[in-house]
Amino acid sequence: MKKSKFVKNKIFDGHVTAKKHLGQHFLLDLTIASDIVEAVSFHNNYKTLLEIGPGTGVLTDFIVKKKDLNFITSEIDTESVLFLKQKYPDLKIMEGDFLAMNLENEFPEKFGIVGNFPYNISSQIFFKVLDYKNLVEEVVCMLQKEVAVRLCSPPGNKDYGILSIFLQAFYDMEYLFTVHEHVFDPPPKVKSGVIRIKRNKVIDLGCDEIYFRKIVKQAFSMRRKTLRNCFRPLNLTTEFLADEFFNKRAEQLGVQDYIKLTNDIQNELVKN
Ligand code: SAH
Repeated sequence: MKKSKFVKNKIFDGHVTAKKHLGQHFLLDLTIASDIVEAVSFHNNYKTLLEIGPGTGVLTDFIVKKKDLNFITSEIDTESVLFLKQKYPDLKIMEGDFLAMNLENEFPEKFGIVGNFPYNISSQIFFKVLDYKNLVEEVVCMLQKEVAVRLCSPPGNKDYGILSIFLQAFYDMEYLFTVHEHVFDPPPKVKSGVIRIKRNKVIDLGCDEIYFRKIVKQAFSMRRKTLRNCFRPLNLTTEFLADEFFNKRAEQLGVQDYIKLTNDIQNELVKN
C-alpha cells in the first residue's frame, strides 16, 4: 500500500457533517489527494478545471495552488459551500446539483473535470460528460472501484458494459490506482478506484450516434444470450441474423464492431 500521511479532516471542527444521501465520504489522506490532482494532465492544454463535489476541500487545497488556472467548483451541500466560502473567499462555486447544470453557460471553452465523485451518481455524471464531450477534454476522478474497473475494461471482459462502450468511443481510459476504505471518513463499504479519461480525436463516430446507443443497449439487454437473441425484437430477417457474427455476445464486441453493426442494421432495416 502507498505510504500515506494522515491529517485530521476539517469536518471534525463541526462545520460539515458527512451526509450519506449526498455520497459524502471525506478523503483523509493528503498523499492520495495530491496524487489525484497531479494525475490531471491538462491534455491538449485546456485552462479551465471543474471540481465536482469539493466537500471540505481536500483536493481543492492542491488545486488552488496551481497557477494560470481558471478553477470552478460544483457543490450541492449547503454546509460544504459555507465551509468553502470561509476557507477560500475567492473560490468560484456553482451551488446546486451538477447533474442539473447547463454547462454551456459556464464553460464556453474546453475544460477538464476532477473530483472524488459522489458514488451514487457517478454513472449519471459520465452520461453528462458524454452530453458535453466536445467540451470535456479530460476527467480525473475517484469512484467505486468496481465501476472504475468496468469503465476501463476492454472488450472480452465480463466487467465491460454499456457505459464502458459509450465512453471508450470518445475517450482513452486509464485505471490509475486503488484506494482503500480506511482513508475516508466515514469509510465507504467498498474500495475506490481512480481513473483518468482523455478525449480522443473522434468527432464523428461514423454512424448515427443515437442509433449506436440503441444498438449497444439492445446488445446488452440479455448479457448472457447471443446477439442473435438480443436483436430478435428489431424485426431483422432470419437470413440477416443467420450470420455467424450473431453467435457472439455483447461483451465480446469493441467500439468499432458496434459502429459497423449499427450501420449494417440500419442499412438492412432500410432495405426491408
Ligand atoms: N472532495 C471531497 C468530498 C467527496 S464526497 C473529498 O474528497 O473529501 C462527494 C462530494 O460531492 C460531497 O461534497 C457532496 O456534497 C458532493 N455532491 C454530491 N452530490 C452532488 C451533486 N449532485 N452535485 C454537486 N456535488 C455533489
